[in-house]
Amino acid sequence: MSHVFPRHTKISPPMAASGDGCYLIDTNGKRYFDGSGGAAVSCLGHSDTDVTEAVKAQLDQLAFAHTSFFTSQPAEDLADLLVEHAPEGIERVYFVSGGSEATESAIKLARQYFVEKGQPQRRHLIARKQSYHGNTIGALSAGGNAWRREQFAPLLLDISHIAPCYEYVLKAEGESAYDYGQRAAQELEDEILRLGEDSVMAFMAEPVVGATSGAVPAVEGYYKRIREICDKYGVLLILDEVMCGMGRTGHLYACEADNVRPDILCIAKGLGAGYQPIGAMLCSGEIYKAIEDGTGFFQHGHTYLAHPCATAAGLAVVKAILGRGLLDRVKDMGEKLQAALVAEFGQHPHVGDIRGRGLFRGIEIVKDRETKEPFDPALGLAGKLKKACFAEGLACYPMAGTRDGKTGDHILLAPPYIMTEEQ
Ligand code: PLP
Repeated sequence: MSHVFPRHTKISPPMAASGDGCYLIDTNGKRYFDGSGGAAVSCLGHSDTDVTEAVKAQLDQLAFAHTSFFTSQPAEDLADLLVEHAPEGIERVYFVSGGSEATESAIKLARQYFVEKGQPQRRHLIARKQSYHGNTIGALSAGGNAWRREQFAPLLLDISHIAPCYEYVLKAEGESAYDYGQRAAQELEDEILRLGEDSVMAFMAEPVVGATSGAVPAVEGYYKRIREICDKYGVLLILDEVMCGMGRTGHLYACEADNVRPDILCIAKGLGAGYQPIGAMLCSGEIYKAIEDGTGFFQHGHTYLAHPCATAAGLAVVKAILGRGLLDRVKDMGEKLQAALVAEFGQHPHVGDIRGRGLFRGIEIVKDRETKEPFDPALGLAGKLKKACFAEGLACYPMAGTRDGKTGDHILLAPPYIMTEEQ
């Protein structure tokens, strides 16, 4: 009997034994194509020797040094590289161990920023329905996925959720994509005014929505309007790129495609590419200065902040993404993947939409293409698709989504950036 507490107690997964490029191999020798990079993690595949060598060298040099005493070279170098390529205004990087820690840190930094600035009345966070920001209490409170929140509701923070920007489902008949985006963004201003215009600290959103909707980018103009509203009311914009960042969309930071400047930016998954657990919260120089000029201490802190081996892995990953021309490759392969999916499934009676950016693609499954009505969630379609694909040697990420109370299923594809056309 295993003593591991698994993710699903009623499923016995095969044991992964090794990795080979885009494939995972179990102890029986069966090969699985990693069609979703786990959950948009393994962007360089499973046998990248530049990254493994970097981690080994760091282990030989220094495994750990607590950040209350020391900084370390890989953390300094990785922060420099991330900031060099970051959106305008971003100046500092706070390294954590994963995505939930990054978003949780962002929520607390937003709060402390306003306390330091003498605006303690700013305490509200606004996020969106159909979003996922992680599983710790603050991050789960920010997420809008009803299923994930349900049983923990009594423990969650009071956070507002406005509608997402989800063209396929929420754009009205006859409405242009641009007008729809402006209407969706207006919900932010309405909610700020409802809560009290100087009581909101931040708005949090995923530039391309991942796990809850299946690679849904915003329409043109949405984030420009969101930025204007945040500026008008002095609200911080937190972008959660834990899933869509680090080259996944063909840009190092996904928000580049929307031409929007965040105040706080969260990254994780692709940063460590699965070779080490790592995430990061990047923030503007202005936010950092408020802490520096104030208490000088961000009252947060995790033991494994800026772990030398994790930052060494991150450094090797980002160098690989930038140095091997992988951003262009992701754009090119992403267009080919989209075209192939449309050719193969575009006319399928139960495929409603195929979308995404770069190698971050979603297929929305519907009962009826005309009405966009989803299947009954009781069918457990997502789970059945996952099982069927896995049996065929394809690991992909089908999920039951939530559409403002209705549930629609989708499949998320996020293969490694090294995937070939044949694969
Ligand atoms: N934010 C987004 C957008 C995510 O997709 C996820 C994970 O799927 C998280 C946060 C949480 O990251 P982690 O699972 O590393 O804690």
